Amino acid sequence: MEINRRKFLTMFGITPLALYGREFKGFWKEDKPDLHFGWTTCLTYQTDDRKLGFEYFNNLLDEMHEHGMTHLKVMMASHGNFSPKNHGLAWPAKNEKLKPQLDKKAVNAHEETEFFSRIINKAHVLNIKIYIEIKYLGMRGINEGYPGIEVLRKKDGQIIHTIRPEAGTEEREKIESLHICCNNIHAQQYMRDKIFDVLTRYQNLDGIVLEHPSYSGNTCYCNGTQHQLKNDLGRTIDELSVDEYQRWKSKRIRDTLIDLKELIKSINPKFEFGFYTGFSPSDGNVENFQLTRGHDPKALKEVGFDFLMPYCEGRHKKLETREIEKVIDYLDFPYINLHTTIRREPPLNYPLPPKGPKYVKSIINWGKEYAKTNRQFKRMTFFNEVKIPDENRQAVYDSII
Ligand SMILES: [Zn+2]
Repeated sequence: MEINRRKFLTMFGITPLALYGREFKGFWKEDKPDLHFGWTTCLTYQTDDRKLGFEYFNNLLDEMHEHGMTHLKVMMASHGNFSPKNHGLAWPAKNEKLKPQLDKKAVNAHEETEFFSRIINKAHVLNIKIYIEIKYLGMRGINEGYPGIEVLRKKDGQIIHTIRPEAGTEEREKIESLHICCNNIHAQQYMRDKIFDVLTRYQNLDGIVLEHPSYSGNTCYCNGTQHQLKNDLGRTIDELSVDEYQRWKSKRIRDTLIDLKELIKSINPKFEFGFYTGFSPSDGNVENFQLTRGHDPKALKEVGFDFLMPYCEGRHKKLETREIEKVIDYLDFPYINLHTTIRREPPLNYPLPPKGPKYVKSIINWGKEYAKTNRQFKRMTFFNEVKIPDENRQAVYDSII
């Protein structure tokens, strides 16, 4: 076990929370934080009517290089439930079954205007690592390629989102196809096809970060889940204790992720594999939140991720850093990349407090200090680069020095 200052102090019963706000500089002199910074951006997410192409990301890379940033994550799709004007896959997918989900408005979604491959090359010239982000979520059009796909369902058979009664067909279809269930064989095939399609095109990436699968609340009652549960345990959901159900969910998510990891490494063994997980809900019960989702840290360790990305979204006001330290302690993972949201405007259907330069500076200053006490804390990536005010961008560059 690597002993860092945090673990050393914990051995003596001094928890990081007990140290909160205290000055311990110089106590552990050989600690040299190795904290790296970067952006998380998107080809289309929250770009609305803007058409971002090679020039935009080319300039971004120059700017990053100038300010000593070393990592870039790029979302390869947008979902209209959160960004109504941007919906679909933003690379020219070759698989016919994926084509109904293409975002035809995305510059990069067409073979003749595809530019992301040149961005990867440029990033490497500047020694910037570049990753893509893919979600275990469905898009409108998924049923055309994957009939039989199922989404998370509550006990009453309803999906987990409420759809406005006045919603039109398009909006309804976007929401109904969103949270696909990993116990459905077509959903898993869809994810395998999607990952294979994008990674075989962009084989010189440094890696891929996956967001979801996750169960939500008291799910799932879809046919795939009920069938899988009967197969694994010979019982129904209602015959299981809360603990048994949570354990089973984490095992299912672990096995789903292992299957995807094997696929990813078979395309290029050098690809790093990251995963978004780790969040403190409004009641502060991190463990319950994680286990309900099926994200038990012990099971996630068995997948063998290269890094985990907990969410730092500024929901806890002055307690934000205390809560994120709690999450990181709970995950206890050797490589933490903090997903640091610094938008002023939240996306649709995802309410978050607005952030300005003051918040940006304080969260980065906290990160720099925290990295001295916890060597698991290695990266902060700021989100969403395409949708932040200039003063927040400047606050990032001023603070990461
Ligand atoms: Zn299900």
